[in-house]
Amino acid sequence: MSEPVLRGHCLCGACTFELIGPHNFVGRCHGESCRPATTSPFITWIGQENGRWAWTGDTPVSYQSSPSNERGFCGTCGTPMFFRSERFANELHFYAALLSDPNAVTPTEQYHSDESLAWTGVALEQPAR
Ligand SMILES: [Zn+2]
Repeated sequence: MSEPVLRGHCLCGACTFELIGPHNFVGRCHGESCRPATTSPFITWIGQENGRWAWTGDTPVSYQSSPSNERGFCGTCGTPMFFRSERFANELHFYAALLSDPNAVTPTEQYHSDESLAWTGVALEQPAR
């Protein structure tokens, strides 16, 4: 029996990836450094063991975002694509929001909750316009 494969892509579709088999974790990060890197109040990460993921389109470009951390993004459309850290040397972190089916995973933990924005999780109304 083959292992389940989840697929994802950037906005323009140039960068595509596969996640093969189980994830090391699926969790939400409220960290202050992830926020400007993604323009999002929080990020849902998938930690995927090296050897269990693959770039299947263009390889993302990357930059050193801090001494031990690297962030990747699509060289065409700029979509954030991954986070790599010396702290987590055996895995790459992928954005759950980039999955073709983001509901295929469910976050079960969160990180840096002390840095979360006051309005994260506030119930909002849908205006009728
Ligand atoms: Zn792209």
